[in-house]
Amino acid sequence: MAEFVRTVEGRTILMVPKSSLTSKVPSKMPAFFNPAAKLNRDLSILAYSAFVASSEKKTFADSFAGIGARALRVAVEVPEVEQVYCNDINSVAIEAAKEAAGLNSVIGRCHFSIEEVCKFLLKGDKEGDRYSIVDLDPFGTPARHVDCVLRSVLDGGLVSITATDTAVLWGVYPKVCLRRYYGRPLNNSYGNETAIRLLLSLTALTASRLELAIKPVFVHATKHYLRVYAKVSVSSSQANDVYNSIGYVMHCFQCGHRFNTKEYGKGKCELCNTGLAVAGQLWTGSLYDKEFVRKMLEQDPDRQCKKVLEAAVEEASEIPYYFRADEISSKLKSNTHSVQRIVEKLHAAGFVASKTALNTSAFKTDARINSILDVVS
Ligand SMILES: [Zn+2]
Repeated sequence: MAEFVRTVEGRTILMVPKSSLTSKVPSKMPAFFNPAAKLNRDLSILAYSAFVASSEKKTFADSFAGIGARALRVAVEVPEVEQVYCNDINSVAIEAAKEAAGLNSVIGRCHFSIEEVCKFLLKGDKEGDRYSIVDLDPFGTPARHVDCVLRSVLDGGLVSITATDTAVLWGVYPKVCLRRYYGRPLNNSYGNETAIRLLLSLTALTASRLELAIKPVFVHATKHYLRVYAKVSVSSSQANDVYNSIGYVMHCFQCGHRFNTKEYGKGKCELCNTGLAVAGQLWTGSLYDKEFVRKMLEQDPDRQCKKVLEAAVEEASEIPYYFRADEISSKLKSNTHSVQRIVEKLHAAGFVASKTALNTSAFKTDARINSILDVVS
């Protein structure tokens, strides 16, 4: 264990590879730890705290736990969680997690295993029951494990899923995206929202096949990953309704017009008559349960988390795309207008408009691009 050192994140002591604290790109060997994912873990602590406040059973399963950064933080910082299950295929990483559990005095509530992800998940907790919260944070795509995650969570439970194959989901490799997520991506200015919606539609459609329904409660994206949180319930009638929340986004690369639709189709842009690009099938329903996000805010988050959460509460998330302020100013050949000012002008003109948590320099609106340009200019 010579190359492992102590560090503290949140209120939790972690044993991490010494090199991970100094290298730009954290290495998989001897074990993976990414200090830059602190915001990701901070938000998950807030989400799990909000969730367990109203759940009966309180168990947490971390399927790709690594050195236990997330699992141990749950054990220490969400004390309501009764049992924490910490799994990774890397035995060196699990040894480090065990040592850190001892240092944090939470070893009595932590269980460790070294198994393939699906094997671990389907085994269930020590009583053989499903878990109330299941986290999936793999290297690269989560697509191959989504079934196991959904099969291992309790009725009324919560799943959190991270994707780091952002180049695929943002449209650099559309063919790979289509086979992994059953939907086409968009390589454009709001590609991260399309990416989140592709991950959600894969999760929702997989769930419906298993007689389950999902309800997204919170999502989060950075350049390097995207992450979704969804409640899962056993309900064939809700599963029947899955296609109410699945559709397509059509985008015109010529004039910037965009809209969502239920029907897959090629079609021409009604504003400039150019051929439209299609994204989807993808999730077109809401991305947030605002009540849930408010509960996350009640946990007294730090400034960075608070900013994300406040934007999420305000967001008109039923609109499945956004506009960047610099897109508008470059079309108007003017200086960049502030997002706040654009939103105010759109409101004054009677449109739905809001900031978006997915991009601090962007806004959502039901106004079409030609109306936005009229209103802002
Ligand atoms: Zn057009």
